[in-house]
Amino acid sequence: MDAPPGPDSPVTRLRGVGLDRAALLGRLGIQTVGDLLFHAPRRYEDRRRFESIRNLETGASVSVRGKIVAQGVNRFRSGKSVFQVVLDDGTARLHCRWWNLPFLERHFAVGEEILAFGRVQSIRPRTMDHPETEKVEAGDEEFLNINRWVPMYPLTEGLTQRVMRSLTWQAVEACAHAYPEPHPELHVETMELPAEDGPGELRLGMALGRCPLRRDALRALHFPAELADAERARRRLALDEFIDLQIAIQRRRRNLELRARALPCAGDNRWMRPFLGGLGHPLTGAQTRVLREIRGALGGSVPMRRLLQGDVGSGKTLVAVCAALMTLESGFNVAVMAPTEILAGQLERVFRRALEPFGVPVYIHTGSRKSSREPELIPTGAPRAAGTRPGVVVGTHALIEPGFETTRLGLVIIDEQHKFGVAQRDRLLRKGHYPHLLVMTATPIPRTLGLTLYGDLDVSVLDELPPGRAGIRTHLRRMDALPRVWEFIREQIRSGRQAYVVYPKVGDPESEDVGAVTRERERVARELAPSAVGMLHGRMPAADKESVMAAFREGNLGALVATSVVEVGVDVPNATVMLIGNADQFGLAQLHQLRGRVGRGPHPSHCILVPGPDASEEALERLRILVTAKDGFALAEADFALRGPGDLVGRDQSGLPDFRFADLRRDRRLVELARSRVREHLAGSWVPSDSRTIPIGRNPPILQSRAGEDRAGAV
Ligand code: ADP
Ligand code: MG
Repeated sequence: MDAPPGPDSPVTRLRGVGLDRAALLGRLGIQTVGDLLFHAPRRYEDRRRFESIRNLETGASVSVRGKIVAQGVNRFRSGKSVFQVVLDDGTARLHCRWWNLPFLERHFAVGEEILAFGRVQSIRPRTMDHPETEKVEAGDEEFLNINRWVPMYPLTEGLTQRVMRSLTWQAVEACAHAYPEPHPELHVETMELPAEDGPGELRLGMALGRCPLRRDALRALHFPAELADAERARRRLALDEFIDLQIAIQRRRRNLELRARALPCAGDNRWMRPFLGGLGHPLTGAQTRVLREIRGALGGSVPMRRLLQGDVGSGKTLVAVCAALMTLESGFNVAVMAPTEILAGQLERVFRRALEPFGVPVYIHTGSRKSSREPELIPTGAPRAAGTRPGVVVGTHALIEPGFETTRLGLVIIDEQHKFGVAQRDRLLRKGHYPHLLVMTATPIPRTLGLTLYGDLDVSVLDELPPGRAGIRTHLRRMDALPRVWEFIREQIRSGRQAYVVYPKVGDPESEDVGAVTRERERVARELAPSAVGMLHGRMPAADKESVMAAFREGNLGALVATSVVEVGVDVPNATVMLIGNADQFGLAQLHQLRGRVGRGPHPSHCILVPGPDASEEALERLRILVTAKDGFALAEADFALRGPGDLVGRDQSGLPDFRFADLRRDRRLVELARSRVREHLAGSWVPSDSRTIPIGRNPPILQSRAGEDRAGAV
């Protein structure tokens, strides 16, 4: 007799799965019985009770159950068609309608009993358009499909909810018990699940009580007794994901502490003093405090791993230059990586101006530009030439490529870190022997996201803007106000100021339509004649970008028409107007970044948001938030709540783990919970409330590799 299927058994071991069905499941990423358990329902339907058709109200989303009393297709002369099924549940009749799907006729027959779920369109007659339906069939698995909360799964063509339910049921019965606690030493089952707001039907403000065991969670995820059980189960599984992440993060940290000896890079002030003296302005209080933190870390025994958070314009670059100075004074090289060629060019200039007075060489290394000599170029490990000065290399991700090598790398600085993933960061770090690391974010990151993306970093915060800024006013203007806007910009240019005009392509702000930018530039040039108007977009050759930026910086262009390539980092203090067209297409954090390009000098500045013609009321509401809110951290939180992490970390979500159950927007407190429990455990400080004790001090079990182990051990 065959042993019952286990988590790793192929799905073909289940009743009802042959090769065809296995192929369909494969399209959903389901190969094994265990995969089925982790295929989460996208929603649940309350089939304990059906609405009687007579009581339906327009607009309500309901489930009904009835017999088909008539059905058929109406074809119109226009070529359109509507297929209708008339359901009767004994109280009244409901017309279910599907537009232009005449072939559905084959799937229904008069006399059949079906369930329909959807939104009531009208009540005279009672109609429902494109409902989800399911046949009620007498049979052994009826208890799965009615009289309960029923899971509704993501499907693929050719699979039905009934089939899916039957399979997950078999999977739960066969092997939910084979998933013991992944980290018994953490006693996750003793944790209280915090109350958190969820979207829509899962908005459960109440505390959810104790965390279920994992095996119970896997059952309740698919077949909950109450809706709250399903949410409890999801959170338990999300918590496991956060815990795995925290273990990885904290393990990294520990390895660093155990293995690495930090290079002494705190410097001796011999260049720092004259540099700060010649700056022409003092450091802000926040810059001074952060630099003290950095100096402490650069002189510490563990390599620095630090995130510098600061709002747009808070002066992060100056902090970076000072950190570089400390390292250079100590005789080590510095690598600075930026996400775009424009930013790399700008940083190169800043570093050159700051460092060349001390004879410190600054090199550039991007895809299109490479200095002929770089500090102590390959071969790595060759003896250091006597008298060679330590230097700085500024570059783009080209620094990560094999073409770049350097010795005595003391400090790696990454600007706009969120554009790079953890893996890229590590590849640059590995070009040295445990160099120090300073990463800077342009976009303030909400704490939840920060702990997830940067959990292994210490954080320094610049919470103060340099003085003497005249401020930025933000305006929301409709397109018909544009003539006055152009007049205003002409005035600004006449008085010696400059303007940015940013237009995303209508539709997708991330993809650039060169033709559209070019046309836009012509239009803007007409409006602003006789001022010179330049253009900047991502597909231009690097040298052209650089020369346009130079012309703008030097004041030879009155305005710059650009796609969002100017979003981060560009620093031209004479620019006082930022006009953003189709502003509703951008996220709040992005708009805040764009706005941060002005207001960098002594002149009052203006950010003018012009939403596109089709902007929704919701989008306008979002833009209004920006008009009043100045604080980037508050905006980042708002943006995150509204649009999720995508806009903050980039479309490809660099470095963001691939969560199945966790949702960073909803699970903020779970992130914290996971972090503190893992931390306390590693520190040996957590004692469970009951009598079971954790083996403190012995090889902590969670530091061992565990992929696959818990399955193998239990089956
Ligand atoms: P961000 O934090 O957005 O990267 P930047 O480093 O580009 O900001 O700095 C914004 C502007 O503020 C720059 O023009 C810079 O020269 C100026 N700045 C930085 N620190 C100070 C300071 N302590 N006092 C006056 N201006 C400063
Ligand atoms: Mg910057």
